[in-house]
Amino acid sequence: MIKATNINKFYGNLQVLKGVDLHIKKGEVVSIVGPSGAGKTTLLQILGTLDTLSNKNDSSLLINDEDVTKMSDKAMAKFRNSHIGFIFQFHQLLPEFTALENVCIPAFIKGTKKEKAELRAAELLEFLGLSHRLQHKPNELSGGEQQRVAVARALVNSPSVIFADEPSGNLDSESADNLHKLFFDLRDAFGQTFVIVTHNEELANMADRKLIMVDGSITR
Ligand code: ADP
Ligand code: ADP
Repeated sequence: MIKATNINKFYGNLQVLKGVDLHIKKGEVVSIVGPSGAGKTTLLQILGTLDTLSNKNDSSLLINDEDVTKMSDKAMAKFRNSHIGFIFQFHQLLPEFTALENVCIPAFIKGTKKEKAELRAAELLEFLGLSHRLQHKPNELSGGEQQRVAVARALVNSPSVIFADEPSGNLDSESADNLHKLFFDLRDAFGQTFVIVTHNEELANMADRKLIMVDGSITR
């Protein structure tokens, strides 16, 4: 699913990623842990094509067998919207739209027709236990519910891989537990691949594989 070879990232003279190699299989749930400043977010953003690496010429990043480092910006944006889903610590839902509408947005960007997008969004929200919340706006939902709406939004285009950066960092422990179980339910139901940066030990240890990142390298 993901094959990254020799990923380097510099910010000025500061080398934040030091030749990272990574191979993640389809349907795998992988956690990435490590101290603050280790480069976890930077790595996730590069793997998710939100950021670019510093050494295009002697590296490669294959997602679904396509080398995203060789794509134009436009092709990459299109690829990202169809193949990749993101979940962040702060869900970034649009406050003026309902839960259903928020989930539909990536589908609309992809060009999916309104009826089809809404059907898919409603199905996902139902799967996530939110069928009674379709018409609610974000500020009418609890933190855990808002985060599940963000999960549905990440899934609406059926991406093959989901990148999550501290997805439960802002949730109480019960909502966090529910969200963590959900990732595995989704993987079991739809075969999605998850790459999750987290400080939550329980989530990190539930993963099929836990990668430890220190000072720009995966050490274990
Ligand atoms: P982590 O997610 O493990 O906390 P980050 O990937 O956020 O680590 O950051 C790794 C290092 O890169 C840190 O030293 C951070 O200050 C630096 N860094 C991250 N983003 C930028 C940026 N846009 N410009 C300059 N330095 C950055
Ligand atoms: P976390 O530690 O939660 O992974 P950070 O606080 O390191 O996140 O980074 C938050 C945001 O700030 C990121 O978008 C990152 O790229 C940016 N950032 C981090 N460090 C720096 C820096 N030294 N200079 C500029 N931007 C930075």
